[in-house]
Amino acid sequence: MPENDLDTYCAANEQRHVDELIEFLRIPSISADPAHAADVRRNAEYLAEAARKAGFHHAEIIETAGHPAVYAERLVDPKLPTALIYGHHDVQPVDPLNEWRTSPFEPEVRDGNLYGRGAVDDKGQVWMHLKAVESVLAVRGELPLNLKLIVEGEEESGSVHFEEIVDAEQARLRADILVVSDTSIVAPGIPSLCTGLRGLAGVQVQVQGPALDLHSGRFGGDVANPIASLAEILASLHDPVTRRVRVPGFYDDVREPSADERALFASVPFDVDEFRAEAGDVPATIGEAGWTDRERLWARPTLEFNGIWGGYSGPGQKTIIPATAGAKITCRLVPNQDPQHIAELVRDAVLAAAPIGVTVTANAVGGGRPVVTSIDHPAVQAASRAMESVFGITPALTREGGSIPPVESFARVMGLQAVLVGLGLPDDQIHAPNEKFTLDMYFKGIRVLGRLWDELAVALRTS
Ligand SMILES: [Zn+2]
Repeated sequence: MPENDLDTYCAANEQRHVDELIEFLRIPSISADPAHAADVRRNAEYLAEAARKAGFHHAEIIETAGHPAVYAERLVDPKLPTALIYGHHDVQPVDPLNEWRTSPFEPEVRDGNLYGRGAVDDKGQVWMHLKAVESVLAVRGELPLNLKLIVEGEEESGSVHFEEIVDAEQARLRADILVVSDTSIVAPGIPSLCTGLRGLAGVQVQVQGPALDLHSGRFGGDVANPIASLAEILASLHDPVTRRVRVPGFYDDVREPSADERALFASVPFDVDEFRAEAGDVPATIGEAGWTDRERLWARPTLEFNGIWGGYSGPGQKTIIPATAGAKITCRLVPNQDPQHIAELVRDAVLAAAPIGVTVTANAVGGGRPVVTSIDHPAVQAASRAMESVFGITPALTREGGSIPPVESFARVMGLQAVLVGLGLPDDQIHAPNEKFTLDMYFKGIRVLGRLWDELAVALRTS
């Protein structure tokens, strides 16, 4: 079958593919709002039915203590490789509603973009997968590999029950590769594949001074001030010149990016002024010495102060030595840092920096592990070829500074590596009013995924 039959089919069915997605987007599957619980369920049932129609042999609802997920599979031949697709069918809340040009659940096409809540995050990208399956089956009659699909209903609410699903369904979810379409490419003309996400670890610090707030005239000068003590501790955690994290052992397990990886990072355009504007017009970028802005975001760990409290902050003066002060700290982690270990190192550094005159306590909280799929992994290469064949350009290999907890769960619980083939654009307004999916990306995405199955079938063939 000539390669362009798939393109011909996709082109002939574009309008229907849009119309169907619009129907799916009409269901207000807001997982954070209990008033929409029935809608999330209806959405799951709608999706399961759509998966069957697209060609999955089996599709069912997986119940959780929260919102339901959908599982579907088309098992072609046990000798063929298996890919597992992950996505989510729930969406973010829509407020502020008055900033939407058209109603979030009455999707509308304007200027080549489909506007509506969930258009790209992630209902549109899940639908893209269904349409890719439909298209390949229509043109070829069968998939070149086994395909499984798991679509959760709580991603926008923290994926609270998802790991239970991964745990309980390990046997059924087993696959050779995880494919996730819930990210963006760099720009319309610069396709990209995300190969890494940072992990997370946290520490909460509490500084206790006197049992109660003291008069600063009667006691000031002889009693330690918890705010000053906290400031000393926090200031000790970064080197003021190199901006490196000054926690003993913090960098010991960091796997530094290779020269190849650094060259790849550098090949992805980065406009520092645009970045500063996105960051809310910060006057300058700043971070660990010796690394580029992009490397600091993608491949270097950080230690951030997320909140700080203590004393009086109301109007006027209040002349006290406060009884307590505290702070929340989180670290973004890179391979091969272990969240629990790093949290404990930071806790120990906090305790070691405690000045006399106060009692310092610190709780270490591990979080998600960093996940990185090697740029040499055959599935990354396969996805790269699939993308290149549609865009005509080799995609950039990127990472993201944040995390996708389900991807981390699959990696930790099942040892499953992921390729992140997302077709969003940076200006898609996800989580914000006027979310959109650029139709050109939607159509290209269907074709990319159709080719991805061919590429993966070859790249992951075991014999
Ligand atoms: Zn999403």
